[in-house]
Amino acid sequence: MIVLLDNGHGGIINKEYQTPGKRSPRWADGSQLFEGEFNRAIVNGMVQELSRLQIAYVNLAPEYRDVHLETRVKRANVYAGKKSFYLSIHSNAGGGNGSEIFTSPGDTKSDKIATVFGEEYQKIFPNRRLRTDFSDGDLDKERRFFVLAKTQMPAILTESFFMDNEEECKTILMTRGGRDKIIAYHMNAILKVKKDIF
Ligand SMILES: [Zn+2]
Repeated sequence: MIVLLDNGHGGIINKEYQTPGKRSPRWADGSQLFEGEFNRAIVNGMVQELSRLQIAYVNLAPEYRDVHLETRVKRANVYAGKKSFYLSIHSNAGGGNGSEIFTSPGDTKSDKIATVFGEEYQKIFPNRRLRTDFSDGDLDKERRFFVLAKTQMPAILTESFFMDNEEECKTILMTRGGRDKIIAYHMNAILKVKKDIF
């Protein structure tokens, strides 16, 4: 099983964030989260664990620039036909709380994988909200669904918490402890998916 890791959006190059929008508000204490930095931190943490556990993976967008969605999909589809699944890492915005898991439309294997991710999320974050949406979801998420629709293998996208929710942003998304828990839930789910689904 090969895990195809997609860190959504761009990173930071010479202190300049590469993606318009996709950031938290600047909080009263001056702190601010850039989603692409967060997504990379989660993927990089997973890469360390996957290497240690000798689970095959591909980091689809190791660059710091914002790699185009079509390019990400093209890189993933090299592995079509092999035992692989696509996992896109994001944080949410738009007002709300908790986490969401989206799947590619109509793919039952994606739904099974998403269910495992949801279960492992709830073990690590028992007091936090989870919304699993195995349907097409809101239209305003269409840019996210592009990668789910165009990848030729089972595909899920996790939205970990809301970066514009100050409590979630400051206590989870911006902290080492919160990020470690997010990495842990993804890793526990990958191990279970490898064992039970692939
Ligand atoms: Zn995103």
